[in-house]
Amino acid sequence: MTQFTDLGLSQPVLQALELKGYSTPTPIQAQAIPPVLAGRDLLGIAQTGTGKTAAFMLPSIDRLRPIDGRAERQTPFKSCRMLVLAPTRELAGQIAQSAKDYGALAGLKVQSIVGGTSVNKDRNKLHRGTDILVATPGRLLDLIDQKAFALNGVEILVLDEADQMLDLGFIHALRKISQLVPKERQTLFFSATMPKAIRELVGQYCHDPVQVSVTPESTTAERIEQYLLMVQQDEKQTLLEMILRRRHPVPGEFERVLIFTRTKHGADRVVKKLAQAGVPANAIHGNKSQPQRERALDEFRRAKTPVLVATDVAARGIDIPGVSHVINFELPNVPEQYVHRIGRTARAGADGIAIAFCAEDERAYLKDIRKVTGAELERLPLPDNFRAVVEGVGPTKREPKPKLARPKVTPRHGQGGGAPRAEASGEQRSANKAKRKHPSRAGRPPHSGDGSTGGNAAGRPQRRKRFGGGRGRG
Ligand code: AMP
Repeated sequence: MTQFTDLGLSQPVLQALELKGYSTPTPIQAQAIPPVLAGRDLLGIAQTGTGKTAAFMLPSIDRLRPIDGRAERQTPFKSCRMLVLAPTRELAGQIAQSAKDYGALAGLKVQSIVGGTSVNKDRNKLHRGTDILVATPGRLLDLIDQKAFALNGVEILVLDEADQMLDLGFIHALRKISQLVPKERQTLFFSATMPKAIRELVGQYCHDPVQVSVTPESTTAERIEQYLLMVQQDEKQTLLEMILRRRHPVPGEFERVLIFTRTKHGADRVVKKLAQAGVPANAIHGNKSQPQRERALDEFRRAKTPVLVATDVAARGIDIPGVSHVINFELPNVPEQYVHRIGRTARAGADGIAIAFCAEDERAYLKDIRKVTGAELERLPLPDNFRAVVEGVGPTKREPKPKLARPKVTPRHGQGGGAPRAEASGEQRSANKAKRKHPSRAGRPPHSGDGSTGGNAAGRPQRRKRFGGGRGRG
């Protein structure tokens, strides 16, 4: 199997990888690193979760890094040597962090600029220039228009999630940027999908690119158990609350639950109603300020608030290990978006569970999703007492706060990954899996926090509690 040491990377970069604990390159890294090191343009067809950030960052750092204390070129004044464009603030933040991690020993300066933060601060931090700049296109053009920054120093240009940048209406920004970067440069272009508009953009940006394509999206979906609940639109909130409180035996233990709505307003409404029902949750979408988004993500990452309600755009590119469940509160009207959504679970070798709520008027979306993904969504029944709860004659909706999950380390590539979310023995894991597969046969909600979470190898009950673990009343 290819190792990082086989790819021609320098010692400082290999050391940084060792510090991160990565030894084996992911397929896109193995394929992309050698041609990028050789200076070729690259077209990478890959989505988040494949390790694409390191695939472009590691060889680029090697091309830029000073050798014997001397850089081939100086850090340019009010410009940068490597520019990475990303569609969302979250993704930009994650890429900048990776650049800092991987470039820690290479002596390169990394900055990031995104919308929703102080422009003045950005002007100041870019005044002396930087080696690597990660930016969202809108903020970058603002600074260029203000003559606070220029692209004349760019040697390496990366477009990450180009399809998403187009979806977000950045096409004009991208065209303008393509005219401002030097012609003599290397371009690394990434997109999860390749519609015609993207092919045109590739033609404008890249020169004879090496094409690397990894994991067709459907294979990610293969590791995800996908379930369907048919429910009326105005009853979805009740169903969601019942699920989060484990009043409905959906499969799997809750660790972190990511819920998708189609609109920002819809996300806020779900969060508000969950709060009224005593289930703490955060929302993440474009109307939230940058500190609010960061706090929501941080609380989700640490599983302090393990329920996050997101819109598609905000969630795109979020890479948080240990998302056990993705709930599609509303189905996306674009089937590819469904694949992106459920791909937030089953990260880096783990498996995951996706649940789709489908109302009568969403059947057409469901049909498209089935057609595009080829996925068979297993239909789950509504809870037995659902009607009674909806009509307000069942157990009250206001119940004690659900228990919070503890943060958990999820195995990553190259670390012998594959074992999902449980510290139980192999036997216990298969029992859990069988239980997940056949929730109705489990007899009661899985892991209802009453000691039914199973035992460890020594036969003692596991101590770890997941949230939603209150004793069942319904
Ligand atoms: P990306 O697709 O770039 O968003 O990366 C997905 C996740 O995989 C990130 O959390 C990376 O830190 C992690 N990762 C990337 N490359 C490797 C590797 N070779 N071994 C282990 N983990 C990796």
